[in-house]
Amino acid sequence: MRERAARAIRDAGIALRPGEEEGIDVADFGLSAFENEGASMLTLVDTERIAVKLIVLLPEQTLPEHWHTAVDGKPGKEETVRVARGELRLYVPGPDSVGRGFVPSEKEPYYTSRRECVLAPGDQRTIREGTKHWLQAGKEGAVVFSFSSYAHDARDPFTDPKVVRVTLLSADE
Ligand code: ZN
Repeated sequence: MRERAARAIRDAGIALRPGEEEGIDVADFGLSAFENEGASMLTLVDTERIAVKLIVLLPEQTLPEHWHTAVDGKPGKEETVRVARGELRLYVPGPDSVGRGFVPSEKEPYYTSRRECVLAPGDQRTIREGTKHWLQAGKEGAVVFSFSSYAHDARDPFTDPKVVRVTLLSADE
């Protein structure tokens, strides 16, 4: 999976240093259905102030709904997603316009944000603190930049109570 994600990143025209591939975090969020609900992520920058990550999604893979809350008195993360390659479906609260994408089967209660934004390479959206959101790749998969204020993703709440921020393959966090 790391190799596959690294290939997708390189195919998006983004260079990787030797060894960076091993740092790709392959997450199934404890749901054990990686191809349906999961994501591969590579952290490029992670300081006290900002974080930059690459999110790699397989064809029609969904990153489950979550939001970013205040942690230890610091405001929650503000996140901007920008598509590098493929189609990204971003879902935020609003009138239900799910059409191109889909809610993972039998997971309706855990995907409450139903306003669909279909993003192409170069498109970006900013997600404010506390706004529920989830992501889904189009038929060809997607490589997406995530720029954010400091990241404490390990503590972000997810709508699906079964989610735990567990990785399939060991990551160094
Ligand atoms: Zn997020």
